[in-house]
Amino acid sequence: MDAKKVLEDLKRRFPNEPEYHQAVEEVLGTIEEEYNKHPEFEKANLIERLCIPDRVYQFRVTWMDDKGQIQTNMGYRVQHNNAIGPYKGGIRFHSSVNLGILKFLAFEQTFKNSLTTLPMGGAKGGSDFSPRGKSNAEVMRFCQAFMLELGRHIGPDIDVPAGDIGVGGREVGYMFGMYKKLTREFSGVLTGKGIEFGGSLIRPEATGYGNVYFLMEMLKTKGTDLKGKTVLISGSGNVAQYTAEKVLQLGGKVLTMSDSNGYIYDPDGIDREKLDYIMELKNLYRGRIREYAEKYGCKYVEGARPWGEKADIALPSATQNEINGDDARKLVANGVMAVSEGANMPSTPEAIRVFQDAKILYAPGKAANAGGVSVSGLEMSQNSERLSWTAEEVDNRLHSIMENIHQNCVKYGTEPDGYVNYVKGANVAGFMKVAKAMMAQGIV
Ligand code: NDP
Repeated sequence: MDAKKVLEDLKRRFPNEPEYHQAVEEVLGTIEEEYNKHPEFEKANLIERLCIPDRVYQFRVTWMDDKGQIQTNMGYRVQHNNAIGPYKGGIRFHSSVNLGILKFLAFEQTFKNSLTTLPMGGAKGGSDFSPRGKSNAEVMRFCQAFMLELGRHIGPDIDVPAGDIGVGGREVGYMFGMYKKLTREFSGVLTGKGIEFGGSLIRPEATGYGNVYFLMEMLKTKGTDLKGKTVLISGSGNVAQYTAEKVLQLGGKVLTMSDSNGYIYDPDGIDREKLDYIMELKNLYRGRIREYAEKYGCKYVEGARPWGEKADIALPSATQNEINGDDARKLVANGVMAVSEGANMPSTPEAIRVFQDAKILYAPGKAANAGGVSVSGLEMSQNSERLSWTAEEVDNRLHSIMENIHQNCVKYGTEPDGYVNYVKGANVAGFMKVAKAMMAQGIV
């Protein structure tokens, strides 16, 4: 494989999709050496078949708002690769959603799902609809209209969507209701469902908890843990909230959280009571993080991200490309020892280089945030068995999956000087399993 040429071809064939190009470039740069040890891969043109999604559905979603006006949005589902299991990946509702962003997420998801050791292919979907500022009734009508189209392309053994930015338990519930009505079937077609209708315990917590379990494994390699460490978290949604919860449980001090308008800095730390307030503010009242600063009298910085603050650890948990090269240099200059990604691709390529050159612990999202889809996989297993496992059982499995992913990263990513390149480790480990499955299944 000539990684440069593969990338140039992709850019030519699929212009104006910079996030997709960025994700592919990162993977190609780290798997090239391993790939070239297998001439049979090149003969089967495996790399192009792995980079280009199996198929993409794109559709118009029409719904009526509370004023009786007719609104249209775009809907998408990218089914990237199902070599090792049914397509699996979240649905994102956010005004920034476009095809290129979903293609990057579906590509990443394929490697992530492979790393989990569970049988899941990769997919991602979503819409440029933003639930922010919409009434419950509007969100319900949108979700139903979205599922009217998406429903014909998914199924419990075909493609199993879940939540992502803008899609939590409420949206999954509305989509599940419409799918059930359309198909006259009660099946595990979505994960992240309510606990009363097939959802798994620990699913809401899984991505955040899993990221902290992964972080603990990294810290262990340096003979340390979270006790007394200061932590910067971005975001204040699902991933950020449960990341903060687990950091607190393990003795860390959370200094920041944010939303798309700005960040709060609490030098006393966001304790359990304050975190409960954030959960209520964000999940119940759908308010803004600024209100935290007003209530607790701490600093709020409008229009900025928290990476200029001094701390031991950074856990980006909001969105892609939220840490650029300058942010990374500030973090390193302030003595950060570990960055573990709850969000997908939050660090730009330049930021990743800064972290790796400084030889700090750096874990890419496809390894560190794989706990979410892992518990989604466990939800699928429970639905198939028509059983539900205890919270302790699910949490134990999540813990051991994260340990396993960490071991695989160390196995494939340790460099001659002993530094663990977690990006390379995750990419090579994730790639090899999918590649072998594709080879075994012939040219399809
Ligand atoms: P939520 O919608 O629950 O929360 C997203 C948070 O990030 C909100 O605080 C939101 O602020 C903020 N945010 C969103 N877009 C931007 C932006 N462009 N700039 C700044 N802040 C932004 O989503 P999740 O917590 O589920 O997802 C967060 C990240 O984690 C995403 O990258 C997602 O892909 C990734 N992820 C999620 C998994 C899951 O299980 N949910 C699994 C694996 C990865 P605001 O309220 O202002 O919109």
